[in-house]
Parts: sequence; C-alpha cells; structure tokens
Amino acid sequence: MNLPELAAHIAAEFQKHYGRAPRWIAAAPGRVNLIGEHTDYNDGFVLPLAIERYAIMAADNSVAAGKISIYDAAFKENATIDISAPVTKGEPKWSNYLRGVLAGFQQRGEIIPALDVAFLSTVPLGGGLSSSAALEVCTVTLMEAATGKKIDPIEKALLAQKAEHDFAGVPCGIMDQFISALGREGHLLLLDCRTRQTELVPMSDPSVALLVINTNVKHELSGGEYAERRAQCAEAASHLGVKSLRDATADQLENAKTKMSEVVYRRARHVVGEIERTVHAAEGVRHANWPGVGNLMYASHASLRDDYEVSCAELDAVVEITEDIGYRGGVYGCRMTGGGFGGCCVALVKTDCVDAITKKIAADYKIKTGIEAAIFSSRPAAGAMIIKG
Ligand code: ADP
Ligand code: MG
Repeated sequence: MNLPELAAHIAAEFQKHYGRAPRWIAAAPGRVNLIGEHTDYNDGFVLPLAIERYAIMAADNSVAAGKISIYDAAFKENATIDISAPVTKGEPKWSNYLRGVLAGFQQRGEIIPALDVAFLSTVPLGGGLSSSAALEVCTVTLMEAATGKKIDPIEKALLAQKAEHDFAGVPCGIMDQFISALGREGHLLLLDCRTRQTELVPMSDPSVALLVINTNVKHELSGGEYAERRAQCAEAASHLGVKSLRDATADQLENAKTKMSEVVYRRARHVVGEIERTVHAAEGVRHANWPGVGNLMYASHASLRDDYEVSCAELDAVVEITEDIGYRGGVYGCRMTGGGFGGCCVALVKTDCVDAITKKIAADYKIKTGIEAAIFSSRPAAGAMIIKG
C-alpha cells in the first residue's frame, strides 16, 4: 500500500471501529541505514533514509474524558491509556511506545486531549527497520495535529527518543527518530551524531534503487554483545587519548596499535574506517557515483563481519549472493544494516534489475539457509507528516 492508500485504509478502519470519520491522520516512516554502522555511540556519522513503510494513526476527540483509546487495526487489539494522571508504563507492551510520548508531552506541561485512535504499521516489527521509532514519531506527530501546536522536527525526534529510553528501556542513539522525523522524499540524511547537525543528501537518480532484504532471523545475543562493543570502543579511545573514536585517525590508530589488545584494535579499526566511509559515501551519493558507493557498502560489511564481528551466517549469505550477481547483474553494493546478528541487509542496485535481483536473492538465500527472505525495494521516502488535520 502506498501512503494515500494507507491513509484511506486507516480512515476506513477508524470509521468501522468508532462509527465516525477521523479528524486527524498522521504518519511516520521506518528507516534503513545505507552506511555508518556502530558509529553513532562513537560520535560519528550515519547515513539513513526513510523507507516507504509507515506507522499511521487516525484520531478524533473522545467524549470519554481523561483517557485515550487506541485500536490496533492490524492485530485487532485495544488499549486504554489514563491521561488524567502522569502516564505510566502499562499493558499491552506496544502501548508503551505511545505512553512514553504522552508522558513526554505531560512533562512539557502540555494538556493532552482525550482521543479515540486507530493505528497500524507497514514497517516490519523487530526487523531492524525501526518500527519502534515509527510508532513513537507518529504519536508525536498525531499529538502535534491534535493539540494544534507545531513541534520542531528535532524536538520531535528527541521526544520520541526519550520515550524509547524511558518506556521501552532501549538506550538507543538519535538516528532512528531523527530520520523518521526529518526524512525527505528523494534524500538521504547525513547525520553527525556528535553535533546533531543534519544534511539532506539528494538521491533522485531514477536509475538506482535500494533493496531491503530481511533475513528473517534474529540471534538473541545482541544485548551483551552491544555493551561489550561499547566498552571496547571506550577502551580504544582512552588508549588513544581522545574523547571518542570520532577524534582518531587511521594513522593514529596504527601508531598506537601495540598499546591495546588485538581485539580492541580491530573494533577501533572498524569504527574509524566506518566513519570515513560514511562521509565518502555521502559524497558519492551527491555525485551519483554508484559503483563508488557500492564498494564502500561492501567494505562496510567486511569490516562489520571481520573486525567488529556483529554479522552472522545469514547476513553474510545475502552479501555473498549479491557479490555473485555482481555489477553485471545490476548490483553496486550490499551490506548488513542495523545492529547485526540478524535483521536486514541493504543493497544498492540498478532499477531495471530490481525484479531479477529480488528473485535471485530469494531463491539462493532459500537454498543456502533454508529460510524465506522478505525483500522489498524503496525510494528514499518522506519523513513524518500530518496527512489530515
Ligand atoms: P524495530 O524497531 O527494529 O522494529 P524493536 O524491537 O525496537 O524493533 O521494536 C519492535 C517492537 O515494537 C515490537 O515487538 C512491538 O512491541 C512494537 N511495535 C512496533 N510497531 C508496532 C505495531 N504496529 N503494532 C504492535 N506493536 C508494534
Ligand atoms: Mg527499534
């Protein structure tokens, strides 16, 4: 479903459930990171795009004072949030993404109106495409419509991030909420995670497309591994005498190699190289140098696999398949995207070859792993928006 179809669909779902038409409709996209992995908590750069998959909400004022009723139109489930007192965590689990945002509004001293809400999402859940940020940013955007108070997109992203920290218990960086709030159609977002400066990088060449390949696996070792990587990065930075790895060059790292363990050195080599690759990739996108961008993506994957050790057999299988298809078959580059240990790959491909490449990856991935991949293509999509109201 494209966005206008999705808006019509959620309006119809609202009508069916509440017996009247909605007054407001708001949407916010999921995202995929083209390059810049495990750089965010090292004060580096990331280069994500919003994808044409959205969380969408329809709403109207409610006569039931002091509460917000929410209908999940995909799972046919209801939730009620008490807004007459400070909003707390509660059931069902997904309601916490909305609760966190509402609590943030209360902390800002805003009066939250009683609402009836219907929502659904076309962002795959738990696949590393940030269905959680889409839900949070969509909630902020809906509240923007319902209260009539414009919220600066950066403030919107930070409010959503706080909801993820405090109510979902995920100590995420700023990438997911920033791209969901600030994305623009036909553009990537180069985000400096240190200064929070953003730059929209146009990617309007119709001859290239992005494929998202979901491995449909999630290996549950990511929690401890994530903390360990962060600690190793901090250790490397302290050996180098810098605040964070953002401040280190490849030469500095080589010179200090003997000061640290081999593992810590390799972790740092990934981060320092990846920050550089991300800046170069943004430059490549600006100049439509697709083979150059593709090579940086392959290099990013190799570094995440060998130096940072956050890939897995399924992600590697997808990248190997795309390497076999190669430039002649229309693939410029491919890499794992997201934290790792499963989730998705992103590939940069020739638009003309999308169908053939999709079929080939699906077939070969099934043979190699026995698993069905989920594959879709997306142009860089628009960020959060009020569709009605
Ligand atoms: P990701 O953000 O990469 O999709 P997360 O683990 O951060 O993965 O968030 C996934 C969780 O978000 C799901 O397990 C679910 O609880 C919640 N969620 C997001 N969107 C929806 C939705 N439309 N309906 C129900 N739950 C959702
Ligand atoms: Mg998430």
